[in-house]
This record gives sequence, C-alpha cells and structure tokens, in this order.
Amino acid sequence: MQEGFELVAMGRALIHDPALVAKLAAGELTESGCIPCNRCVAEMERDGGVCCPRLSEQLAARAARRRRRRSGG
Ligand code: SF4
Repeated sequence: MQEGFELVAMGRALIHDPALVAKLAAGELTESGCIPCNRCVAEMERDGGVCCPRLSEQLAARAARRRRRRSGG
C-alpha cells in the first residue's frame, strides 16, 4: 500500500455518489453507500445515462421522513 496504486476503480461507487471523492477527502464519509447490488448495470441501456436507482430511493425515503417529521406524523 505504501508503494501507491497505478489504478483505483471506483465506477459503481461514483455512480452512487459522484461527489464521493470530495466527501472522503473532507472527512464527511468513510465509505461508499454503494452496496453493490448492480441494479445500475441493468439501467445502462436506457436513454438518459446511468444512475443509481438505490440512491433515488434513499433520497425519496429521506424526503418522506422529513415531511413526516415536519407534519408531526
Ligand atoms: S445501483 Fe447498486 S451497484 Fe449500482 S451504484 Fe447503486 S448501490 Fe451501487
């Protein structure tokens, strides 16, 4: 490890969170949230580019929790 790396592959981790490297450098995260389930691989053939369906679901669930908290439910 001290001799360095010629290549680091982070494809799915960066699909899950394109800001991952910046967040790791800033100490905001210590690991990727990619599990890796490969659902994004199934999305690659669709128009509009690849994305992480799991991240979209996590963001929607987080927004729903915030709405419930605000409404007192
Ligand atoms: S769909 Fe799964 S494998 Fe692909 S980026 Fe999201 S969590 Fe990772």
